[in-house]
Amino acid sequence: MASSRKKSPRITVTCAQEGCGKTQALRPSRLARCDGYVCGPAHGPEVPPGPGLVRELVMGAAGGFWGWRDVPADGELRTTAQRAHRLGLFALAQAVPAGQVEELVHGLVGPCGPGSRSILTVNEMSTGVGVDETGCLEIELPNVAAALRFMLDQGHTAGVLLRTFTDRTAYTTETGYPIPVKELRGWALRGGRLLPLTAAEVVDAHCTEAETGEPLPPERGVTYRDAWEVTCPAPPT
Ligand SMILES: [Zn+2]
Repeated sequence: MASSRKKSPRITVTCAQEGCGKTQALRPSRLARCDGYVCGPAHGPEVPPGPGLVRELVMGAAGGFWGWRDVPADGELRTTAQRAHRLGLFALAQAVPAGQVEELVHGLVGPCGPGSRSILTVNEMSTGVGVDETGCLEIELPNVAAALRFMLDQGHTAGVLLRTFTDRTAYTTETGYPIPVKELRGWALRGGRLLPLTAAEVVDAHCTEAETGEPLPPERGVTYRDAWEVTCPAPPT
């Protein structure tokens, strides 16, 4: 019997490198949302990431294409010790049931609506998270989401940021590549709860150099928004 499922439309991604012109067609659900896409790592963006940000390269973000996105940096957290801590956290988080992880991610990104794409950042860890057209969650790196749920249940303290891509263009790179505007919302993870932060609170926390307390310029291409209430079921006792 023939499938009644509609054939999903395909989108075409073009390499951001000026003069390259290579394209990649793929289903929208296969796209890990990034700031831009290139045919290979040699065709990366020429502009450096903004202050306080590091650039992540995502292999296979759009079929055979690579993606890049700029996420918050924390020099101190990128030490070997912190990496080991993160790996330990991932190992512990493996025990968290997938349903509990999805429940939490749904609370965070559900209000973004169907078809939305966001980047969820927990301390120094990031993952793409999306809601497809039917309302189903897409979690690019489930171990990052599981780590967040584990930290919530264990009463850890952390900063949680959600950057949601919009269809608006923030600015165009020197090579003519449009960088999308992202809406940024933040929560404080504390005492087994996710406390929504106002836009002003996020600007305050985000635009201050962690070590020196010096002000940083606001992140380029970002609109700060008030976060919503995320209802979390009580942690298991
Ligand atoms: Zn290229």
